Amino acid sequence: KRNIAVMTSGGDAPGMNANVRAIIRAAIYKGCKAFAVYEGYSGLVKGGPKYIREMSWHDVRGWLAEGGTNIGTARCMEFKERWGRLAACKNMIDAGIDALIVCGGDGSLTGADLFRSEWPSLISELKETKKITTEQYDKYKHLNICGTVGSIDNDMSSTDATIGAYSSLARICQAIDYIDATANSHQRAFVIEVMGRHCGWLALMAGMATSADYIFIPELPSSKKDWQDHMCNIVSKHRERGKRKTIVIVAEGAIGADLTPITCKDVLNVLVDRLHLDTRITTLGHVQRGGTAVAYDRMLATLQGVAAVDAILEGSPDIPSPMISIVENKIVRKPLVEAVKLTKQVAEAISKKDFQKAISLRDTEFNE
Ligand code: ADP
Repeated sequence: KRNIAVMTSGGDAPGMNANVRAIIRAAIYKGCKAFAVYEGYSGLVKGGPKYIREMSWHDVRGWLAEGGTNIGTARCMEFKERWGRLAACKNMIDAGIDALIVCGGDGSLTGADLFRSEWPSLISELKETKKITTEQYDKYKHLNICGTVGSIDNDMSSTDATIGAYSSLARICQAIDYIDATANSHQRAFVIEVMGRHCGWLALMAGMATSADYIFIPELPSSKKDWQDHMCNIVSKHRERGKRKTIVIVAEGAIGADLTPITCKDVLNVLVDRLHLDTRITTLGHVQRGGTAVAYDRMLATLQGVAAVDAILEGSPDIPSPMISIVENKIVRKPLVEAVKLTKQVAEAISKKDFQKAISLRDTEFNE
């Protein structure tokens, strides 16, 4: 029976609480002890009972629907340094933990895999410097890790959906529905900025779900003249057909063909100067992260939480660390390192404007 800890790390996402709840309850149900590491990797580096707490079945009651993450999350520079990971290793052993499930984005999962691959050398150093006993060394020789993906951007390779993405999408659509009413009344145009630095999924899906007039995403840059002409043609056509409002969605990572950002202000200027539309900008900001998790995220986080505990219990040092995914509606395990590597390669290809490569990399994940 294992002592399994769960942590949330990186940007918060609705459904992280549901994931923590499922992991804690599945671990207890399977006869393990369950722990929560508070404040992401920084809690692991600091250690002690304030940050690493054993959790009971009741501790997570009511967490299923709640947004954000009740065990906290943080960006932690110390964990990027070896000394930080060494402290984390010691703190885990002190708390008696031998398996770690991290719910976060690609950065957090990169950190988790690095921690696991370095574990033998970290634990040897602790033994040599007499910070742990030989018995402790033997008992904690292997660290089992597993990743679940919490991210509102839906930006991870090898999974169809990340925990939080559908909640964020629902919130964006709701906000745009509100804006629609006032836009329609005054015949205004609204330029709406949504999150997504390397991935336009939120902008693209929100565009479809709200029948926006035009969208800008990082994956599809075009030259200034092209997008200006194209957008103006489409918006004018819609107006000629009697549409009283205009909605343009801009992903925060939207770029032009020259790789410089396309901002809401750039878009507003064109709508005002060329089409003389009364135009406003709305940046949805952190509203997109807040609020309760939609049903899909509660379900995804729960199924994946149980699958993560199973993966830990069935794991062994010779099996690569798993990441829990959903592919074509099935909860599956994928090799964590490969998924993170693919995600980084796609982002890199996009930032270099190599879309052919980005598309073929994205295909790789699904053809696996
Ligand atoms: P996300 O998980 O949402 O992508 P970040 O990239 O900010 O968010 O990563 C969250 C945390 O994960 C970082 O603050 C750091 O503690 C840890 N982390 C990220 N990348 C690494 C890395 N290469 N090595 C070790 N830890 C990392």
